Amino acid sequence: MKKIMALALAMVLALSLSVIAMAEEKPAIEFVTSDFTAEGQTQVVKVLAKNFGSVTALQVAFEYDETKLELVECAVNAGLVGATVNTLIPGEIYINWDALAAAPIDGELVVITFKAIAKELGAAAFGFMPGEDIIFAGEDFLEIPVAEIEVPAEPAEVEIDYVHEHEWSDWEETKAPWCGVEGEKVRHCEAYNGTCDAEETETIDALEHDWDAGVAQDAVCGSTTDVLYTCLRCQETKTVTGAVVEHDWDDGVVTTDPTCEEDGVRTHTCRRANCPVGTKTSVEPKLGHDWGDWEETTAPDCDEHGEETRYCKRDRSHKETRPVDPLGHDWGEWDETKAPDCTNPGEKVHVCGVCGEEETGTIPALGHDWGKWEVVKEATAGEDGEEKRVCKRDESHVETRVIKNVFFLDPTVIIDMTGKAEAETNPNTGAPVMGAYAVVALAAAAAVCSQKNRK
Ligand SMILES: [Zn+2]
Ligand SMILES: [Zn+2]
Ligand SMILES: [Zn+2]
Ligand SMILES: [Zn+2]
Ligand SMILES: [Zn+2]
Ligand SMILES: [Zn+2]
Repeated sequence: MKKIMALALAMVLALSLSVIAMAEEKPAIEFVTSDFTAEGQTQVVKVLAKNFGSVTALQVAFEYDETKLELVECAVNAGLVGATVNTLIPGEIYINWDALAAAPIDGELVVITFKAIAKELGAAAFGFMPGEDIIFAGEDFLEIPVAEIEVPAEPAEVEIDYVHEHEWSDWEETKAPWCGVEGEKVRHCEAYNGTCDAEETETIDALEHDWDAGVAQDAVCGSTTDVLYTCLRCQETKTVTGAVVEHDWDDGVVTTDPTCEEDGVRTHTCRRANCPVGTKTSVEPKLGHDWGDWEETTAPDCDEHGEETRYCKRDRSHKETRPVDPLGHDWGEWDETKAPDCTNPGEKVHVCGVCGEEETGTIPALGHDWGKWEVVKEATAGEDGEEKRVCKRDESHVETRVIKNVFFLDPTVIIDMTGKAEAETNPNTGAPVMGAYAVVALAAAAAVCSQKNRK
């Protein structure tokens, strides 16, 4: 670079006129930048050369705002051989061609790609390095003065306009609401140090009047009264027909004392001045008796109720009674006063140990205590017999029954030897009386058999 610069300084005056003559138009450099860059994306700046004649050497130096732009790539036009690129210092780019083909240059010199890293939106500058000339040497001359090259007077602007979620500030009231009038509030996006110019406006609801407590106009108990209200904010007034004014009764004082059983009277006074009524009464409820404990006033006995009484502590003439259940007799052991016999019940007595009352009870009859049946008369052929039994407790108690005539035989009873035949039973023992008949029948059958065996 220093070598070319030295040449340039030496030859600038000598050859300036011939360059102008050679070129139909002034050589120029232009910057072309791509559209805005979203956050994290890249932006391209093209450096274009126009109307450069036969150039053998060229040197340019750029600077850029390294606080907002990060250099990603510096791509020199491949058609222009022998380029040396120096990007070692952030914010500075030096490119030096010192062996060009001396062919006319018209178009892209270099394409520089930046990544936007700004914390603010807006433009980041890219331009020629101040104090570093563009050095330009042609085929027929050693150098061309910088003044002969038309270059952008201002730096190129790399637009940084990130896509982002707005970060809204608090709402700020820009117009206060008023009674019946809407207000307005505004908030701003605070992203990227407030360089986002997004703004939102909203209305604030109009205020309701802030009515005071109202002033009743000549309030009189029992009549309706207009109330005048005034807005504490805008002083507007309104009149409302109020409700009927109620009396404002005090708690009152007892003017007739209540008793246990009779209500008393309480008299209240209206607190409002000019009350047309003044006072009213209410019932002071009766007190009810204040009963003491129950006391036994008449003791109960074996079969008579007693009585308990309680008295009102407030007035002993107020009393209440209730019965007490009888105690019941305290009976001693039973004494037999008349023994029972076979057919007549006996009698017994017991005495209350408290009041001496006697109570008589019966002892059930004992029933006969029978001995064994004894034959009084045997049954004979054709005639019934008889048997009797005697009570062990009293010989005069005798019971008799018939013994059947043994030859009064029913043919069905004889044939039926299974014992299932209906038979008369002994009324006392329950044993069948048929045994006698069966013996007779068996004897008859045996007689028949023995006669057959002999044949
Ligand atoms: Zn924003
Ligand atoms: Zn108001
Ligand atoms: Zn009143
Ligand atoms: Zn009482
Ligand atoms: Zn008794
Ligand atoms: Zn008896």
